[in-house]
Amino acid sequence: MGKIFAINDLRRGLAPTGGRAPASGLPAGQDRLDTLGRPLRDLRISVTDRCNFRCSYCMPKEVFDHQHVFLPQSALLSFEEITRLAQLFANAGVRKLRLTGGEPLLRKNLEHLVEMLAALRTPDGEPLDLTLTTNGSLLTRKAAALKAAGLKRLTVSLDAIDDAVFRRMNDVGFAVEDVLAGIAAAVAAGFAPIKVNMVVKKGTNDDQVVPLARALHARYGSAVVLRFIEFMDVGSTNGWRLDDVLPSHDVLARLREIGPMSTLPATAQGETAQRWRFDATGQEIGLVSSVTQAFCGTCNRARLSTDGQLYLCLFASHGHDLRALVRGGADDAAIAAAIDHVWGGRDDRYSALRTAATPPHDPPTATERRVEMHYIGG
Ligand code: SAM
Repeated sequence: MGKIFAINDLRRGLAPTGGRAPASGLPAGQDRLDTLGRPLRDLRISVTDRCNFRCSYCMPKEVFDHQHVFLPQSALLSFEEITRLAQLFANAGVRKLRLTGGEPLLRKNLEHLVEMLAALRTPDGEPLDLTLTTNGSLLTRKAAALKAAGLKRLTVSLDAIDDAVFRRMNDVGFAVEDVLAGIAAAVAAGFAPIKVNMVVKKGTNDDQVVPLARALHARYGSAVVLRFIEFMDVGSTNGWRLDDVLPSHDVLARLREIGPMSTLPATAQGETAQRWRFDATGQEIGLVSSVTQAFCGTCNRARLSTDGQLYLCLFASHGHDLRALVRGGADDAAIAAAIDHVWGGRDDRYSALRTAATPPHDPPTATERRVEMHYIGG
């Protein structure tokens, strides 16, 4: 699936000559920009391609059934390999690491990886912003250990507050109360504020927008920030149709039934969510309009798949094989040069092209299968 670098070519053509290349592949203090002027700041790391949920919009049961072949253990990057690559990405400008999957808490001893990543530093000596996205199913067991290991922030996915709707969405009959208990355990462990992501699919769970906002505020107050995500055409198996997308402006109109709302300023460059708050209660809401208002122009994210392929876009078909370099004995300078080279050539802007397509929002004609989200990390 990935492109394998010829290490010697990289050494000849890309690594600076006259001595050891700096570990970032660039002189200290300089950011490599891609062809559209975007720096690399955020690395999402998929630690497993397995999940215990079968959400129809992500890993539909009909496709990911008992016959589906997941990656063998030997294909997965080890914790040491992930940590080594994460340090090289930090040298290249990354300031935020997000562990994801699949369901990241299914990876055995994940807290050990968190501990290793928490010890990394940027070239300025700062720790990285270390965060994790989970379906919450194992949080009651894991929240305290993750906090103790040095995890800074948590995002929990929750698509409904109504138990029947939630069980249908996850398609394995997982109860909403168990996720809520996980969120409570995470709050108790000191993770607040926790982001809760709801993917809104028209006709499936869009009646949950207002009830979920009300319920989370009633239970957790400002300890939880709810974010609504437009259903995206990631991968090739979720049967995406534009008709199933509830645009963020419709989500906002429904939320205004609760009370008047005002916008909040962005907290970080490249932030995916537009921030809003309810005037009366101060409850914060995020809207991620990945389909109706593409944010490719500020995208500073790269993704490292479970088996060590570097992907430059959530909608990509091909990755770049960093695992081959790591396992082939490349030194840090050669791997740094590869990251630098790949990022420097990046021109992906899938969502912007989809928005610009005629008729509007048709996905660009797919000649190749797009990679699945659970494999490159959401
Ligand atoms: N298992 C973890 C979880 O449930 O959060 C992490 C992986 S999951 C792929 C990461 C996020 O991607 C979740 O919030 C999920 O709802 C979201 N997601 C998956 N497929 C999506 C799609 N087609 N459109 C929008 N969001 C999606």
